[in-house]
Amino acid sequence: MKTITLVSGRLTPKALSVGLVAFIFLVCVMLVSAIAWQLKQSADERLANAKIAVHNIVRASEQQAQDTLRQAESILSNLAERVEHEKLDAEQRVRLSKVMANNVEATDGIQGLFIYDQNGDWVVNSFSAEAVAKNNSDRSYFIYHKNHPGSAIHVGQVILSRTTGDMIIPVSRRTQYPDGSFSGVVLATLPVAYFQRFFERLDVDKQGVILLALNNGDLLARRPMIEALMTTNIAKGELFSRYLINSNDGTASLTSVVDGIERVYAYSRIRGLPIVAAAGLSLDSVFATWWTYVYQASIMVALIIFVLTGLGFLFYRQIQRLLVAEEDLRLAHRDLELIAKTDSLTGLPNRRCFDITLAQEWSRACRTGNSVALILIDIDWFKQYNDYYGHVLGDECLRRIAQLVGKNINRPADLAARYGGEEFVILLPETELAGAVGIAEEVRSAIEAAKIEHRGSATGIVTISAGVASNHQDGVIEATDLLEKSDSFLYRAKKLGRNRVEHQSLEVLET
Ligand code: GH3
Ligand code: MG
Ligand code: MG
Repeated sequence: MKTITLVSGRLTPKALSVGLVAFIFLVCVMLVSAIAWQLKQSADERLANAKIAVHNIVRASEQQAQDTLRQAESILSNLAERVEHEKLDAEQRVRLSKVMANNVEATDGIQGLFIYDQNGDWVVNSFSAEAVAKNNSDRSYFIYHKNHPGSAIHVGQVILSRTTGDMIIPVSRRTQYPDGSFSGVVLATLPVAYFQRFFERLDVDKQGVILLALNNGDLLARRPMIEALMTTNIAKGELFSRYLINSNDGTASLTSVVDGIERVYAYSRIRGLPIVAAAGLSLDSVFATWWTYVYQASIMVALIIFVLTGLGFLFYRQIQRLLVAEEDLRLAHRDLELIAKTDSLTGLPNRRCFDITLAQEWSRACRTGNSVALILIDIDWFKQYNDYYGHVLGDECLRRIAQLVGKNINRPADLAARYGGEEFVILLPETELAGAVGIAEEVRSAIEAAKIEHRGSATGIVTISAGVASNHQDGVIEATDLLEKSDSFLYRAKKLGRNRVEHQSLEVLET
């Protein structure tokens, strides 16, 4: 049937629901993947930008440290030259002290200049032209130069200045006698605060860090400044133990040994100096706005998924309702069709159904040349039955007769119908007249055998008369001829006394 084809042509409700869930799931997965990919790209981009930023900070710090130390080296070379080749009498010392004071004045980042003799006694300093009775032979830079010949400058660990009390970085050079033996040390002091001030001007976040350290890991300057840290050695930190071992510069993401903060670092060994510059931006600050974006994107994705699933659910429910409505409609249609074809009193197919079937069978018989037969049945003396028993029992009698008529046809293609009033009709496709007569006789005798009481009839029981006709007999050209022919034989049966079956003589038909 049309409805069934339509339903079977579509997805079943289960397949539809699985398809719908799969579709929504796929859309959600694609959405989440697309957002995740975009977030990953944005995170990579932020990290790359942060690396560029810290790299630039390291470059600036490196440049500044190099400039300052080179200036100190140049001044110390000059002083060493004078110490080694000029006689430093009292007058000369006063003059040199003034020159050194001018040097300090003219050079950013140098706080003081000192000349010590081979015993560590102060010879000249930039702070005062007067002789100072102090001794620095205990300082590590002094001990270093005493034991290490050579004219290279030495950058020492941060110490507290004995002159100013400030934290200073000692930059020193050995002086020697013409025979190469140790004659003393010239020293420039670089205040740690000078580097701190420079670091303050560079753009790092609150948790960011900039530092200068000696190659051995001793800190020289650091932003943020933590005084206790200035004597700390960071050689054990990942920066020294893992990265600087392998390369002189680069970038790395690591957790600080000092404060435990995770940062992206850039680091570089300063060329020609025993110093390392490094800067780090905290990952928290690098990804601060990125996390806001992640939260916003997650909320947006969650909302979209929620709306999608909600819509999918509504959509699915609507489909289910449509399917139910369609099934209801199909059943109603089937019922209506049945009602339209059924006689309500007897339950047999009605006249309309008979007319349609007759037309179909007639054209089939015309095509195939097969026989089609028709039996027209009429209850005898039924008016009297009604008069005697009343219409209600009359109807009951009609139902019984209908049952008996229906019972006596066997093949699925045969059709017994109520023709109208107390008349019935039996359509027998592919049945010759003789066969049809046999069936009519069976029906008649079955009704007779039922012995339904009928006081209004001479026989005392309900009987029927029947007229039989087939398409293979004279005068039957149209389907209506078949009806007329059987009706005329029915009329003859009535005339000949009822309770009988009338038809064209079978012998005549055979000849
Ligand atoms: P006969 O056919 O033997 O010549 O006599 P008859 O009394 O049957 O004659 P007729 O065909 O004239 O009467 C038919 C009667 O059938 C008329 C009507 O009272 C009755 N009848 C027709 N349809 C119904 C029905 O649906 N219910 C009942 N109870 N009676 C019906
Ligand atoms: Mg009648
Ligand atoms: Mg009758």
